[in-house]
Amino acid sequence: MKCRHCSAALSLPFLDLGSAPPSNAYLTEAALRAPETWFPLRLLVCERCWLVQTEDHAGREALFTDDYAYFSSFSTTWLAHSSAYVHAMRQRFGLGPASLVSEVAANDGYLLQYVQQAGIPCYGIEPTASTAAAARAKGIEIVERFFGVELANELAGQGKQVDLVAANNVLAHVPDINDFVAGFARLLKPHGVATFEFPHLLQMIRHNQFDTAYHEHYSYLSLTAVQRVFAANGLAVFDVEQHPTHGGSLRVFAQRSEGGPHLRAVAVAAMLEREAAAGLTSAAAYTGFQTSAQKVKNDFVAFLIEAQRQGKKVAAYGAAAKGNTLMNFCGVRPDLLAYVVDRNPAKQGKCMPGSRIPIVAEERLRQDRPDHIVILPWNLSAEVMAQLDYARAWGASFVTAVPELRISR
Ligand SMILES: [Zn+2]
Repeated sequence: MKCRHCSAALSLPFLDLGSAPPSNAYLTEAALRAPETWFPLRLLVCERCWLVQTEDHAGREALFTDDYAYFSSFSTTWLAHSSAYVHAMRQRFGLGPASLVSEVAANDGYLLQYVQQAGIPCYGIEPTASTAAAARAKGIEIVERFFGVELANELAGQGKQVDLVAANNVLAHVPDINDFVAGFARLLKPHGVATFEFPHLLQMIRHNQFDTAYHEHYSYLSLTAVQRVFAANGLAVFDVEQHPTHGGSLRVFAQRSEGGPHLRAVAVAAMLEREAAAGLTSAAAYTGFQTSAQKVKNDFVAFLIEAQRQGKKVAAYGAAAKGNTLMNFCGVRPDLLAYVVDRNPAKQGKCMPGSRIPIVAEERLRQDRPDHIVILPWNLSAEVMAQLDYARAWGASFVTAVPELRISR
């Protein structure tokens, strides 16, 4: 396979999770009677541009189905982060009623609702029908398309260039990263700003976050790689911030390479130096990750087997992509982990892809009173523990597998 950005041949392995079905392919009762398609799940590193990437097997059409069920608004932590973002951008870039703001991968309007409430004109770009419909129900205009150069040119032709465009947790999810990034250079007004948030590769490695790997997650990003990809596609990075979201994310600020007004902040060089010091510009940082993932698997599976030997009941919370990766890499099935609770009604009544663990509503916990509740989205563990605090009354403990097995009573 060749690098998605620079076309160099990829030879440095980073992570091999065996194989798994697409992580959003939740199974209906009818689908349980049919076979599933499993694809190899392997991550490789480009030693020329340092883009870490998922080995390509499936076209995105097969992965991003219409009933794709991730709705950003189900996380209160993420909503608070988004509201704070809108406030900060208004202050920093002086946005008002004469501005135009957009978001690529606007999802259900979780972020643009705050832009709209501030009286700033905006529109979203979102290819997934179910989340686009939810955004429209909030009164937000949505362009229901995949983003890239072609769409950006069309929007620019319609006078819809923007002062600010946000792209949160989408840069890593596009197969053609060059075309996607080049679209931003065209969508921006000459003085416009694009911000991108993505989980930071440095944190992924430091904190064993191998379960953030899945097929739809094409790239695993450092500032080093992002800056190169941007520069090759007409965008210049001028600032970077760190945020605790998704286990440690970067927010990168970019403008057009030609004529952007913002000076480059010292934070950019500082982060590039930090990444180099951590070994991200040599093979060194990448070679031990497989061993770390294997240790998490061994400890988690050992915990589940021991719990069963002791006659304890184990349930899980949060039927998201991370959980699917963990279950399938660990080979966990309903005999070891009976069900997963999820707040999203669109997932309830279905089963997790691959592991076929049933997804149920939260009431089940009160009825069943499990001894251990495994929190699969470890990035939201504080929020989930507060939400499920009532389970402590019957002695339940909360368990997370990543970065290492932790049992909290
Ligand atoms: Zn490359």
